[in-house]
Amino acid sequence: MPNQTNVRCPNCGIQFTAPVETVIDVAQNSNAKMLLLAGSLNAFQCPNCGSPVRVATPFLYHDGSKELLLVFVPPELNLPKTEREKAIGDLMRELTAVLPQGSFKSYMFQPRESLTLQGLVDTILQADGVTPEMMREQRERLSVLESLLGAPEETRQSIIEQNDSKIDTQFMQTLSLLLQRMVAEGQVEMAQQLANVQEDLLSFSSFGQSLLEEAQEQEAVMQEVAQAINQLGSQPTRADFLALAKQYAGDIPSLHALVGLIRPAFDYEFFQGLTAAIGQAPADEREGLETLRDQLLQLAQDVDAQTQAMIADATKLLQILVGAPDEQALEALIHENVEAMDEAFLSVLLANLQQAENQNNTAMVTKLSGIYEHVLAMLREQMPPALRFVNELLGAPSPEEQQRMLDENAKTFGEELLFTIDAVTEAMAARGEETILQRLADLRSAAETALD
Ligand SMILES: [Zn+2]
Repeated sequence: MPNQTNVRCPNCGIQFTAPVETVIDVAQNSNAKMLLLAGSLNAFQCPNCGSPVRVATPFLYHDGSKELLLVFVPPELNLPKTEREKAIGDLMRELTAVLPQGSFKSYMFQPRESLTLQGLVDTILQADGVTPEMMREQRERLSVLESLLGAPEETRQSIIEQNDSKIDTQFMQTLSLLLQRMVAEGQVEMAQQLANVQEDLLSFSSFGQSLLEEAQEQEAVMQEVAQAINQLGSQPTRADFLALAKQYAGDIPSLHALVGLIRPAFDYEFFQGLTAAIGQAPADEREGLETLRDQLLQLAQDVDAQTQAMIADATKLLQILVGAPDEQALEALIHENVEAMDEAFLSVLLANLQQAENQNNTAMVTKLSGIYEHVLAMLREQMPPALRFVNELLGAPSPEEQQRMLDENAKTFGEELLFTIDAVTEAMAARGEETILQRLADLRSAAETALD
């Protein structure tokens, strides 16, 4: 229940109204609690000059579930004793007005006063079961982050190495929460800096290295399993998939990759078939098959949950992009989230575009098409130069134009051009994109000639 209050910008002097929170009842307004803990309660941005504007006002914090009632009067207000008591009294009346009738309890007679904002935050965290030790660790994380943000780029590596032992899952979570908040608040520059720091942390810390190794191992398993699936030929049957699953029995990472790569193959009929096979199997094989069935069922559930989470993330990101105030902010947001611009994101984007078209929502269609164009342009930018060139060659308006592009540029790529064409050919063949294969074959021989 924020009050719309007139606020004056200390930088440019303009007056604007802002939703100032003075009574925070957690049961009704958990968002204000989050803002308070994050240090951004009653912090606004001047609509005229963009300066941060912090409103110093007395406020009350109430968490009925913990019988916690705190009050904070900013010392910089220098309120004389009588005015201070009156302010607290007013806040108490405001709180009583919003509490359900009959919920008044004895602890509410006297709010506990915190002398500093940090003290208030500590009291709240302690009541939430956050120990002083946990708080100290969190402050250390923030202070390392702060020094990384303030440091020139070339010194970041040594700061990271000095703090190597502090960089762990929780550290990366803290950073990622901060990053999300900056993006949500439209603080594009700050978010960009945080994203750069995140990248360096992954490159230079032991923790980042181990994540990288893990990812590489997963990738290797994935490739191996993908190859095994390819070897099943173009029309694999359920029996083939079952044979493959049996081959990976007990090897959870490979089974996970298998289910992830061909989730639709593990349908109701597949499990029915497996159950039938268990019934007919020799007694000594049954238990193993039952375990395999349970594991595959669990993995299928996990993969579905993952897919749903990815779609939810993509939807959230799309909402943020749709809310971008202007083109510049949109581009910055897309660049910051380049890793999130995957197939899931594009399919969510296209589904939303389709829906907006069906509803004749012209404004939304324009907005989403704009986002789509920006994302595609960025993905093109991210491509290795040789791949981008192959893409441009395939999009050439005429064979003559394609020839001209090859004559002009093929030599700068050399052999890499041929490797890239082969890689694209392989990928297209795997996806069954038959129509493009002939064009790729023609392109390859033209490229060979141009390289001679
Ligand atoms: Zn201003």
